[in-house]
Amino acid sequence: MQNKMLAEAMRKALTLRWSPVAVRLLRPGEAVPEGVVEPADRIRHCQSITAARRGNCLYIPPRKHACPDGAGIMGLITMSPKLRSGDLYLLFKKLPTIECARKMIASRPEFAPGSYTATVLAPLEKATFEPDVVIMTLLPEQAMWLCCASTYGSGDRQVFHTSGYNSTCADLTVQVMKSQQMNISFGCYGARASSDVEDAEVYVSIPYGQLPTIVASLEKLAAKSIPEARRRLYMPPVIDSTAHTGGAAASQRVEVVIDANRCNGCGICEAFCPEYVLELAETADGEKARVAAGDKCCACYTCVGQCPQQAIQLRPAGRG
Ligand code: SF4
Ligand code: SF4
Repeated sequence: MQNKMLAEAMRKALTLRWSPVAVRLLRPGEAVPEGVVEPADRIRHCQSITAARRGNCLYIPPRKHACPDGAGIMGLITMSPKLRSGDLYLLFKKLPTIECARKMIASRPEFAPGSYTATVLAPLEKATFEPDVVIMTLLPEQAMWLCCASTYGSGDRQVFHTSGYNSTCADLTVQVMKSQQMNISFGCYGARASSDVEDAEVYVSIPYGQLPTIVASLEKLAAKSIPEARRRLYMPPVIDSTAHTGGAAASQRVEVVIDANRCNGCGICEAFCPEYVLELAETADGEKARVAAGDKCCACYTCVGQCPQQAIQLRPAGRG
């Protein structure tokens, strides 16, 4: 039930196209969860993520893992010496020297062989098991809001760990399980070449234990910040001709124009203006906004975007 609620909340707040994917690595001796199906054919970990985002609930033991690199990194099998050595990265021309390949391999997060017995995946809303991580394929703007949601409660900056190689296995599964920190990955050669993840999509993985807190923050951001940003609230009306307005010689000042007939004196503009340009003042018609320090205006358009009465506009000074 909790999984369904968390999935629905994320879908709604971010307008996700795809389901968040619940991923668990089965521990030795752990029973296979209900409702997951072993695929008929071998499948890569990256492919199983895009299959799960489409609604499939999967149980993938080592015999069904098609990528020996990924299965080795996640501790399901012992990696072959050829893969472990780094030689193949040179053969594929993905890295320039064996030293470079060895360094990349030695620094990537991995689990020891035999640590886990299978991967299970499902769209989060259908998951009958407790995921280790929840992986999303989404647009960078949606990933940005997940970063904000992660920073929201603590103020902490987000630090990401990736190499561009071994994306869904190392970056999104092992790294996040080990660190218990959200991670971003841009995909890897294997994931982009063999799954239907789109060029414009990135991945974010969240440790399951942090998901309720991140979702709660996301819902708060969705109340104001997300819709405002998506409406391009602070964009000047004509931004594509800024290079043709007279250059440095032209006036850099703008004039803030307030329509007193529309203004209801709510004070929002005064509260939001970062430069103390606006203030409320008593008039014959009650309190109204007025320009107190017009020369300080930096043309951020915050007042224009926030005014509920559409009572404020900016114009280049002297063009009234
Ligand atoms: S936000 Fe708009 S309506 Fe409210 S005081 Fe400012 S100008 Fe007036
Ligand atoms: S554009 Fe920005 S700086 Fe200028 S008055 Fe509005 S909120 Fe203040």
